[in-house]
Amino acid sequence: MNIAVLPGDGIGKEIIAEAVRVLQALDEPFKFSFAEVGGAAFESHGHPLPEATLKLAQSADAVLFGAVGDWKYDALEPHLRPEQAILGLRKALRLFANFRPAICYSELTQASSLKPELIAGLDLLIVRELTGDIYFGQPRGRRDAPDGPFAGAPEAFDTMRYARPEIERIARVAFAAARKRRGKVTSVDKANVLATFQFWREVVTEVHADYHDVALDHMYVDNAAMQLVKAPKSFDVIVTGNMFGDILSDEAAMLTGTIGMLPSASLNDQGQGLYEPSHGSAPDIAGQGIANPLATILSAAMMLRHSGNRAEQALRVENAVKCALASGVRTPDIWSEGTSKVGTRAMGDAVIEALQAQ
Ligand code: NAD
Repeated sequence: MNIAVLPGDGIGKEIIAEAVRVLQALDEPFKFSFAEVGGAAFESHGHPLPEATLKLAQSADAVLFGAVGDWKYDALEPHLRPEQAILGLRKALRLFANFRPAICYSELTQASSLKPELIAGLDLLIVRELTGDIYFGQPRGRRDAPDGPFAGAPEAFDTMRYARPEIERIARVAFAAARKRRGKVTSVDKANVLATFQFWREVVTEVHADYHDVALDHMYVDNAAMQLVKAPKSFDVIVTGNMFGDILSDEAAMLTGTIGMLPSASLNDQGQGLYEPSHGSAPDIAGQGIANPLATILSAAMMLRHSGNRAEQALRVENAVKCALASGVRTPDIWSEGTSKVGTRAMGDAVIEALQAQ
């Protein structure tokens, strides 16, 4: 398996190093190729996604990505900002399906802002469409309003749109994922107001005909936002568009209160994928050796499952993470009274030790 490793900026290098060590401990024929991305690539190549990095990512079976960004790049022109590298990779690799699991580990229940009984045992998956919707729809821009009560005034506008094949393929991904879980999909839309999402609901319902073993319900996005904090365990798989998914996946992530624990995957229809923690480059703690590497290690586990056809190894890594937590080690972001505070490297060691003890 050819893995392109792009550590990026801030804590990226520290957390990726631990994920690579865990993968190496599996003793599988992995080939790791490293390249710069984000601010680091801008410094050395003048661009956040240099041609060589893009080529490496395109030719790999999977991309293991750390994080990019730093406040010092905020003044750069938009196309040179580190975060553009992620958009460029998503586009070039046609990564249309974003998987964001939100899992609450029993040892970390107290990290949530919700009552323990609401959150204990939470295991939900948000499947977000990643390459369409209002974020990419044309036309967009600024102009003088051509009509309406403010005709002639400067205005800005975007276009929300989804084509049938785009909805069909993300719905299929969600139904297939639910089949391997608890067999329930909630499709989130705004069909009461938006034509785009009336169509979305129609197409998802049609695709469901091929997945009768999976239950489907539909929910308006405003209700979904409420239900996520009221009864998060009522969800199994949520499938939704790009913008609603962007917002709901962050909300779901924060239910667990542990941003350093949450992996993500973005896949194309060839099974090629980009795997990264849900958090950013955390410049405030970069270089201190205290970042939590578990989200990145769990992203590597997702990589084994979705791009590596190694579900058994993925489970081994996930169980090793659980064992490491059960042994009482915690990076500062998830530390609580009675547990042992460790750094990034020691947390990686604990996972590797648990792997080797299996
Ligand atoms: P952030 O996720 O980097 O940090 C938010 C808070 O969480 C910080 O206090 C940070 O210390 C903490 N944190 C994050 N990951 C952690 C970890 N693994 N272990 C311990 N603590 C952790 O978000 P931000 O501060 O809003 O953004 C910082 C930079 O990251 C910005 O330049 C932003 O654009 C970028 N960013 C990149 C990505 C990405 O690469 N995919 C995603 C989000 C933000």
